[in-house]
Amino acid sequence: MSRRLAIGIDIGGTKVAGGVVDETGAITHRTRRDTPHRSTSPSVVENTIVESVEELLRQVDPDDVVAVGIGAAGFVAEDRATVVFAPHLSWRNEPLRAALSQRIHLPITVDNDANAAAWAEACFGAARGESHVVVITLGTGIGGALIIDGHVERGRHGIAGEFGHMQIMPGGIRCECGNRGCWEQYASGNALVREARAMIEAGSPVVADLLARLGGDAAALTGPFITEAAREGDPTARELLADIGEWLGIGLANLASAFDPGLFVIGGGVSAADEMLIGPAREAFRRQLPGRGYRPEARIVRAVLGSDAGLIGAAELARAGR
Ligand SMILES: [Zn+2]
Repeated sequence: MSRRLAIGIDIGGTKVAGGVVDETGAITHRTRRDTPHRSTSPSVVENTIVESVEELLRQVDPDDVVAVGIGAAGFVAEDRATVVFAPHLSWRNEPLRAALSQRIHLPITVDNDANAAAWAEACFGAARGESHVVVITLGTGIGGALIIDGHVERGRHGIAGEFGHMQIMPGGIRCECGNRGCWEQYASGNALVREARAMIEAGSPVVADLLARLGGDAAALTGPFITEAAREGDPTARELLADIGEWLGIGLANLASAFDPGLFVIGGGVSAADEMLIGPAREAFRRQLPGRGYRPEARIVRAVLGSDAGLIGAAELARAGR
């Protein structure tokens, strides 16, 4: 009996990760390339995708592969064929599916990377069995996706789930989107590093231990470094993560008001801080939730598929024709 495999390609800011994914969500073969620089032409990115797919097809019986799913950071139009805007790439209204269909002779679907990651968690990960889920990806910024009634809710124009740019603090910190006070300026990896640097620049004595760990080089500070220090018991690093977690919980309470999910799944690099982040988020969520005591409370859990979620979900969306 033939298998029904799918290829998933996840196009991130630095890496194009590809894999063959089976019906259980397991990755059987992998490939990885650098993301072409955003100054290169759209065809260079297409070449990278085609080369990844061809390499993977050589490693399996090509007759077993039924579809190819592409996940990309950016706005994907409701036709699931056109990338309207991708911040890391030169794509602007790029007819990606049409261009790839001339070179890859399999059904192709295109989706936003956060939608793909959410679908992977819904099918194989932390959100299995839940019909209404909000998935938050905490990286340098905040990505998001919605599962409503068991399907990915993409919105009228394909770009629902851009939660990172909800305004959470009028007149607040300037965001690269042009507005002020966006959620991702308060509850992301960038916010974590910015706050730690601000404490260092202010000469606060409480960051002395953290600075000593860095060998005195404040520029070397990163989100993973802060998480590691917190895990080893550094009180300032723990406090910084708790602050981010509190902002996270406030935003989640807003999303609960809008969507009434049964579950929030928190993924992305910052979620490695696990309970040091999610514990304070749960507390702030409870305090902030409108009608608390009278409404069932959504659970808040960490994603389980890690950085593979995007490619697994892209493959599964394509395989299942969703
Ligand atoms: Zn913004």
